[in-house]
Amino acid sequence: MRALQLHVDSIEYEPVQVEGRVFEEVDRRRYRVEEAVVLFTSVERDDTPEVAAEMLRQVASFMERLGVKRLLIYPYAHLSPELARPEKALEILRRMEAEARSMGLEVYRAPFGWNKRFTLSVKGHPLAEQLRVVTKDDVVARKEERAQVGAVQERAQRAEHVAERAEREPLHIRLGRELDVFSVNENVGSGLILFHPNGAIIREELIRLIREVNRRLGFREVWTPHLFRSTLWQRTGHYETFRDRMFLFRIGDEEYVLKPMNCPGHAMIYASSTRSYRDLPVKLSEFGTVYRNEQPGELTGLLRVRSITQDDGHVFARPDQVEQVVREILFAAFEVLDRVLGAPVHVNLSTRPERHIGTKELWDLAESDLKAALESTGIRYEIKHGEGAFYGPKIDVDVEDSMGRRWQCSTIQLDFFMPERLGLEYVDQDGTRKRPVMIHRAILGSLERFTGLLLEHYNGRLPVWLSPLQAVVLPVRSAQSGYAEVVLRALLEAGIRAELWTEGTLEKRIREAHRRRASFAVIVGEAEEGSGTVSVRDHEGKVARNVALGDFVEWIRGLVERRERNVGSIDDVLAGRSSGGKT
Ligand SMILES: [Zn+2]
Repeated sequence: MRALQLHVDSIEYEPVQVEGRVFEEVDRRRYRVEEAVVLFTSVERDDTPEVAAEMLRQVASFMERLGVKRLLIYPYAHLSPELARPEKALEILRRMEAEARSMGLEVYRAPFGWNKRFTLSVKGHPLAEQLRVVTKDDVVARKEERAQVGAVQERAQRAEHVAERAEREPLHIRLGRELDVFSVNENVGSGLILFHPNGAIIREELIRLIREVNRRLGFREVWTPHLFRSTLWQRTGHYETFRDRMFLFRIGDEEYVLKPMNCPGHAMIYASSTRSYRDLPVKLSEFGTVYRNEQPGELTGLLRVRSITQDDGHVFARPDQVEQVVREILFAAFEVLDRVLGAPVHVNLSTRPERHIGTKELWDLAESDLKAALESTGIRYEIKHGEGAFYGPKIDVDVEDSMGRRWQCSTIQLDFFMPERLGLEYVDQDGTRKRPVMIHRAILGSLERFTGLLLEHYNGRLPVWLSPLQAVVLPVRSAQSGYAEVVLRALLEAGIRAELWTEGTLEKRIREAHRRRASFAVIVGEAEEGSGTVSVRDHEGKVARNVALGDFVEWIRGLVERRERNVGSIDDVLAGRSSGGKT
């Protein structure tokens, strides 16, 4: 990250023209900031949130020396030839802004994605103009330096240690705590996630979405216990190959396993009746929680956990059905990921490894089916030669989040092995018994991991339909509390997750709503009560005034029903319903 830091008497700027496809909505007027430090900032390709934090730390400590409290972050693309993607740059700038605010600075930010005209008057002192460059290497060096400084004084050392731990802590853990989404408790055990009510809401919304998709794809939901006898795992071969990651225990003379995967249970359901070629494909789904004994050192937040809930599904198909089945799942997966995240995806096809079961012909056919399915979607994909599992080729879909990091989500895995081991069959047209192909699939992957991805991708501010708190109703004075109840009831009846807050000043409640990432603050004063309207404030402070209560309820319900990616912004539709102060 490169930044030109100027201590100014004043700066005036004005957005003139949109510059690229990513830009912020802003009024084209003149803005003026006085007695401030202006940070002209270029976000570069390799920048991370840590780099931005380090830049901010340097600037803040400089401002403290100068006794300046006001900071203007000014997106400025001309300092670097290696700029980050605009989505990422904007995300980092927004985070810097939020972070600077949480440091107690008075923060302004010029809009991103615009050509801006500016005039400024820089102070005359020697430190008024400085160029700052911070890279990933500096972040590492900085950490080492801190560790050394820490060694000098025991107390200082402890403080540094805490600071470093905080720095290493993945963002979603901090957000999870701030937003009361989940926790881990040592009495429960590491890697065993406790989802709080807010977390359970997010899970439930994701499950609802996938349940709809499953129904459309012809999956039928099943439920299987968390515990199977180890004899089943001996038959599948997991007892041999996966044993050190399974939780085993004895009851009487029998040994049981906490299931590390759902597949054998689904296979047993398939095997519970005779299947004819006409019954195939059989598609079973389950939001199945599985348990894997990861090493404690590998457990981090929601990313590596010991209890994992997959949006799991298994298809038992005839070989001639594979391409069609895979194609439908792929289309659904792309649609879901786009709807929920709107982020780029990267698709990989992993092919036959050296060590494998099954004939070359079987693999060639399977791989060409997967290729044909991929090609029908028109998406670009990469082939990872020899990286398939020993029991079949697979397709993985990774998502690139707002920070440019990749997360594995969907997976579609062909399996010739388990049907063999478990003796699965169907009766073909000619009366002979044949083996079905088993397809393992997940769209979101694990709900735990996906929740982590959501928190990080959206920096805690989730789309309205996923937001645990969609609206808070704030009466301006206690005189409006009766009307506020009416507004609350209208929202609750429409299925909106809303709360009524009456304690404290209006300003304090608005701040709290912002901190808790409520999608919207619904403000009702005397004027609103008189006209049966509400004033709606979004997370950027934009307000739609005097919107008819019914219009607002209908609008927010629409956002939720359509599962729009709106993260709590007033859009043109609502703005159009605002009477602009006329009552
Ligand atoms: Zn499976």
